[in-house]
Amino acid sequence: MAQLTDDCFAFSGPLLPIDEVERILRERVMPVPEIETVPLGAAYGRVVASDIAAPISLPPFDNSAVDGYAVRAADLDRAAETRLAITDRVTAGRVAARPLAPGAAIRIFTGAPMPAGADTVFMQEDVRLEGETVLVPPGLDAGANRRLAGEDVQAGALLLPAGRQLSARHVALAAAVGLTQLPVRRRIRVAVLSTGDEIVEPGAARPSAALFDANRFLLAGLLAGLGAVSTDFGIVADDPQALQRAIAAAAQEHDLVLTSGGVSTGEADHVRKAVEAIGRLVFWRVAVKPGRPVAMGVIPGSRPGTGAAFVGLPGNPVAVFVTFARVVRPLLGRLAGAELAPLVALPVRSTFAHRKKKGRREYVRVALRRASDGVIEAVKHAQEGAGVITSLTQTDGLVELLEDTTKIAPGDSVGFLSYAALVE
Ligand code: AMP
Ligand code: MG
Repeated sequence: MAQLTDDCFAFSGPLLPIDEVERILRERVMPVPEIETVPLGAAYGRVVASDIAAPISLPPFDNSAVDGYAVRAADLDRAAETRLAITDRVTAGRVAARPLAPGAAIRIFTGAPMPAGADTVFMQEDVRLEGETVLVPPGLDAGANRRLAGEDVQAGALLLPAGRQLSARHVALAAAVGLTQLPVRRRIRVAVLSTGDEIVEPGAARPSAALFDANRFLLAGLLAGLGAVSTDFGIVADDPQALQRAIAAAAQEHDLVLTSGGVSTGEADHVRKAVEAIGRLVFWRVAVKPGRPVAMGVIPGSRPGTGAAFVGLPGNPVAVFVTFARVVRPLLGRLAGAELAPLVALPVRSTFAHRKKKGRREYVRVALRRASDGVIEAVKHAQEGAGVITSLTQTDGLVELLEDTTKIAPGDSVGFLSYAALVE
């Protein structure tokens, strides 16, 4: 079931820049074809499969934006107060019994339809009442405090384009125009496994040289946040045969197999060879720090034309996070048919000095704070190791240093990406 066309990946040099990875994914990964219709209540997080037009306009009718008095602008004295007789009262959900007569006003409430003949609404705070009349001040613009039919959405206009991943805001928009169900692509199925002789399940007996598995839990949460369904394939030893078997099994019935650990060049790193043995490796090094070794490939399925994409992430949890954000997220987006909004790094002021190698993209874990002059500053976490998990929990996001950058000095403006923005 892989949607990757597995014959035409470019393998451009030993260290692939992030932009090149994204270009390869855009060009070579096709969305899953299956489309289903889901009720609105189940649409959150799904990806719209085809353009949705608005069946009605929003607002559907002209209405008042405030509690007050509906009037005709033509009746108003431009220089002095105008006295108008109050002839009717219209609340939200009701319609005025009669049109607004010249020289009159209608008591109106927020959301109530504009009475025929009325074009302007005074806020109740701005008027004076005397018996059955209202005195309105001069100077209000014609059309003030009135919401026009269609000023938000025009009937027939494009409401939700194909590829939109539905947030609560988008589902609310669909509800507002009365839609009850939406065509969406099926969810992406991801098999997740950890590798390493030293990795044990949290809660299991832990040999003295072992670590509890953090990565499967990190990945499961990140995948759920992106609307994918994950299957847990557990922990696999650093054994070539065991890895081949596990990856081949995981490729069945899944669109993507995601592993962590075992992708570098150490003697116990067998993931890359396992992929080469049972499938095809597309690239395995990306010009990104942390995270340089990232293997990407295709594993054929048991039937012709089927199979899964494969991404082997590094073992260190911080590297897992960064490479998930920069490689797996765009891949998932392509498989799901989602048009991801480009990541926009926000300018903040660096408090730190930092040197880096040219030609690779680097991500620095930082906490934000407001300096005494009001500017937002980025403070680098004290521990830079890619295995330091608390550097992820004690910070707010990543400063992105582009390929050409070689050093940062305190006071420099740098681009900040929040954790939420990176993996939503
Ligand atoms: P590797 O790429 O397999 O050499 O792993 C790099 C580092 O990440 C090693 O220190 C591993 O022990 C650690 N590591 C690998 N997998 C996990 C995991 N699932 N949870 C926590 N740490 C891990
Ligand atoms: Mg390992």
